[in-house]
Amino acid sequence: MTGTTLDDYTDRYARRMRGMTASEIRALFAVASRPEVVSLAGGAPYVAALPLDAVGEMLGKLATDHGPTTLQYGIGQGTLELRERICEVMALSGIDVGCGASPEDVVVTVGGQQALDLVARIFLDPGDVVLAEGPTYVGALGVFQAAQAQVVHVPMDGDGIVPEALEQAIVEVARSGRRAKFLYTIPTFQNPAGVTLTEERRERVLDICERAGLLVVEDDPYGQLSFDGDAPAPLRSRRRDGVFYLSTFSKTFAPGMRVGWILAPHAVREKLVIASEAQILCPSAYAQAAIATYLATMPWREQLKAYREIYRERRDALLDALAGLMPAGTTWTEPKGGLFVWATLPEGLDAKAMMPRAIAARVAYVPGTGFYADGTGAGHMRLNFSFPPPERIREGVRRLAGVMEQELAM
Ligand code: PMP
Repeated sequence: MTGTTLDDYTDRYARRMRGMTASEIRALFAVASRPEVVSLAGGAPYVAALPLDAVGEMLGKLATDHGPTTLQYGIGQGTLELRERICEVMALSGIDVGCGASPEDVVVTVGGQQALDLVARIFLDPGDVVLAEGPTYVGALGVFQAAQAQVVHVPMDGDGIVPEALEQAIVEVARSGRRAKFLYTIPTFQNPAGVTLTEERRERVLDICERAGLLVVEDDPYGQLSFDGDAPAPLRSRRRDGVFYLSTFSKTFAPGMRVGWILAPHAVREKLVIASEAQILCPSAYAQAAIATYLATMPWREQLKAYREIYRERRDALLDALAGLMPAGTTWTEPKGGLFVWATLPEGLDAKAMMPRAIAARVAYVPGTGFYADGTGAGHMRLNFSFPPPERIREGVRRLAGVMEQELAM
């Protein structure tokens, strides 16, 4: 072709792309992954703690042991074998047959991320409101933005989402003539705040949502990574109607597998499968066989314990370092599980503006602004403790404290 060039695509993009910008966090990871930088920015599980030789051997034999089905297309909902195993995993947290959990109502997804996207796809029209904790998971914000939904944040305190604030947000959204479709919540070891919704509040939050006719999307990647005794039982174990339970093998096994799931109310399961088939046809047969075999033949409960112990030690290292080194006026959460601590900076410090100085001092974190739909949160930062070993965590906090002291002196 002559005379035509396609060098400008800007007026061709779909409207939904307008709000979609590169995630601050992903841009950060490129810099933060340089070896001289102590990265407290990531969210990666410490997969080196897996028995890599044994996992390798298991993977090597998958196709021969399970036959060609591991290399074939499968059904959109995911294999029955894996859905049964998923039910065993959920039963450990109290989501069992007693509360209506069944392989029939499980949809296997490509990580928890696709699970979120599916829920958004089947429920959200442009302009719909999603209520979500403030701060919330950055990947969920991306999904809701792609669905052209509006996120209304509900504040948390050390006990999780504040029920009175939730009630108020519901009233305000209704008063503004908009429609809130669901509450998106990470009640246990929240990302990024590291807080857990208390037992008492779990009941209240469920009651409030039920009264308001609001669905609950419970995202629970971290519930099984508890360090100090069991976490409160998931919302889904208390209520079966109107609650969608999302989880993933990313944090309990390996994110490279990209396998997660949704336990959906029975009436909705079929819609999720249809939406998933339109998106991906079916989840990877190979990855599903790998997870099912891992759960059937390897000591996965022991592995979970190993992850917990490693992360507990790293959490302690981070909390000790913060207590010993942070400038006065800094506060932080003390998570009982999961991967993250949320720190609040002394008055006047801006975590986003400080980032280039922190990188120059060879330490990285995620500024709080990434976790709010409206870009607020600059007075906070998320610190990860799952990936760096304890001595690197201490060194990272030492560098960070130095940068903060300098900023305060400016
Ligand atoms: N939800 C939350 C709260 C998360 O933190 C993550 C991963 N960081 C996910 C969902 C998605 O995880 P994945 O797609 O790896 O399963």
